[in-house]
Amino acid sequence: MTELCRADCAARDELDALAPLRDFFDLPDGLIYLDGNSLGPLPRPAITSVNRTLRTEWGQGLIGSWDLAGWWDKPLALGARIAPLIGARPEEVIVGDSTSVNTFKVVIAALRMRPDRRVVVTDRDNFPTDLYIIDSAAELAGDYSVRRVETPDDVAGAIDRSVALVALTHVDYRSARLHPMNEVTRTAHDNGAVMIWDLSHSVGSVPLAVDACDVDFAVGCTYKFLNGGPGSPAFVFAASRLHDAARQPLAGWHGHVRPFAFEPDYEPAPGIRRFACGTPPILSYASLEGSLEIWEHVEPAELFAKGQELCDLLIELLDPYFVPGQFELASPRDSRLRGSQVSLRHPQARSLLAALARRGVIGDYREPDVVRLGIAPLYLRFVDIWDAADAIRDVLSAGPVA
Ligand SMILES: *Cc1c(COP(=O)(O)O)cnc(C)c1O
Repeated sequence: MTELCRADCAARDELDALAPLRDFFDLPDGLIYLDGNSLGPLPRPAITSVNRTLRTEWGQGLIGSWDLAGWWDKPLALGARIAPLIGARPEEVIVGDSTSVNTFKVVIAALRMRPDRRVVVTDRDNFPTDLYIIDSAAELAGDYSVRRVETPDDVAGAIDRSVALVALTHVDYRSARLHPMNEVTRTAHDNGAVMIWDLSHSVGSVPLAVDACDVDFAVGCTYKFLNGGPGSPAFVFAASRLHDAARQPLAGWHGHVRPFAFEPDYEPAPGIRRFACGTPPILSYASLEGSLEIWEHVEPAELFAKGQELCDLLIELLDPYFVPGQFELASPRDSRLRGSQVSLRHPQARSLLAALARRGVIGDYREPDVVRLGIAPLYLRFVDIWDAADAIRDVLSAGPVA
């Protein structure tokens, strides 16, 4: 290890004004949870919120809760609370369905806006569900070709005036590398293409400014860094300048302008409501709503800066153990190019993770040889990073990972 010692990390925790945020979480004792980029842990306010929704709103309020408990407007109300975390206006975000389903909605909506163009640009390393949905939507929509670039650096060169849509994930799920949102969006627009960003690994972990970057559409998960609970509903952002023109394909009754008129023909609601489809899973909204309460106590910029400090610390502590071809950093070293995650490459990545789990450190594996460590600054301490690095060093020094 470097000159740094555990006491230095404890001292940083002592001075950390954000340290009390950890008390919002119900974390198992003795565990260092570095998998909050896959499934965030349970926030205590979510327990309260789910209990209230179950016992009072459903139990006592029954069907009246659609109005009286605000169930009908939850997709918009929670969207408005996510908006500041992505740099959007409250009326530009709606919560509902999964990221996969929402990707389908915005891809088709975007293709409909460029009927004279036939090319979609994405990135070969995009999250697989995004690739599958893009391919399926392009096939369904007609005679499209999907251009998958080999590396992030090839994106700009792949965008020309034949491109209808550029669809990318902002923070790469495997490496945590960031696409430069502002530059790529500008290149797309300069060529007349629509721009979609998947923010699943960005929201709640890095600063985002979708409006300032002039993004058209975005989608993202809420069960990762937002800690909304397993399968909590995803979100859609659509820039307000597009609301009147955008037509998403899943024309369900919750997106109708007059749902309770039960008319035979679809007429989309004005505004972001047109991205709704069917009846929302209210219990999942309740856990998400509880988790979002935490953000009222947070200055996001400060929190995200802490996330990068934690990542930098982990890289610094592991640096002496990196050996090319054996144990390598798989994330960018420069924090400006990286999400809140540190990925490592090791030929026995899976066994390394199992050995870490036996020492109480939970990370996850991604094909073919990647150890992913999600660094969530809401509940991780500097000493957790020290202890995780110590456990990794211990496993490596024990010889070949069995
Ligand atoms: C996690 C993740 C998803 C997951 O989509 P679901 O529909 O919630 O399963 C999609 N895209 C990206 C980039 C992700 O990281």
